Amino acid sequence: MSAALHIENLALGYDGREGFKTVVDGLSLELAAGQIGCLLGPSGCGKSTLLRAIAGFEHARRGQIRIGNDVVSSPRQHTPPERRHVGLMFQDYALFPHLSAAQNVGFGLRRLPAAEREARVAEMLALVGLADLGHRHPHELSGGQQQRIALARALATRPALLLLDEPFSSLDGASRERLTLEVRDMLRAAQQTALLVTHNADEGARFADFMGAMDAGRLASWHPTDQALAIQPSSGSTASGQP
Ligand code: ADP
Ligand code: MG
Repeated sequence: MSAALHIENLALGYDGREGFKTVVDGLSLELAAGQIGCLLGPSGCGKSTLLRAIAGFEHARRGQIRIGNDVVSSPRQHTPPERRHVGLMFQDYALFPHLSAAQNVGFGLRRLPAAEREARVAEMLALVGLADLGHRHPHELSGGQQQRIALARALATRPALLLLDEPFSSLDGASRERLTLEVRDMLRAAQQTALLVTHNADEGARFADFMGAMDAGRLASWHPTDQALAIQPSSGSTASGQP
């Protein structure tokens, strides 16, 4: 079986006044179906750029990204975001303020028949523990509740891959820790393949099966987290990164 996400020798960057600036350079990474990975790295090291490229908002300068069997990004290929089956929970990808929580969750389901859409929205609201709050608007919800709605919206389309860009960074202390563990459990229950980026190593270790550190545009390591070892003693064959 092919990996859910396969990144090979990827280079990404931006055109600037002083020419092209490389941000990601020769990054390789593989995530098996149902696995949760975490990329760590300091601010500015290219984590968001990488996730945006996987989602289809940045172009590959070299190398390739495969989702399932499809090459979605390479210097010769660029599949648009809406055809990648990727769900996003980004720090800067907020809820639509003028839509209710339920309308936000149903946003990506507009092509479904109404009854099916409503059933899926109800299912997703229940999954994130907010079955009774679908009528509320984002400003009537706490920060943690808003993030749950963002997660429900991201999962509603049943994406092949969920990308999480520091999704808990606006929360603090106990509620952050609680939501981290809850979201992890939801993703596990759904066997959802996911990639989290964060600069918080403890959070990554609690959340993911595999984690690695980005350094100078590459993945410096890729190894199982302790939690993954405890839960999946034989997971060693399911993912590999570059040396
Ligand atoms: P991280 O998410 O790890 O904090 P980013 O991927 O946001 O890092 O940024 C990596 C580098 O790319 C930084 O030096 C940043 O300034 C630069 N960068 C990010 N977005 C853009 C952009 N749209 N145009 C030019 N440079 C950018
Ligand atoms: Mg970022």
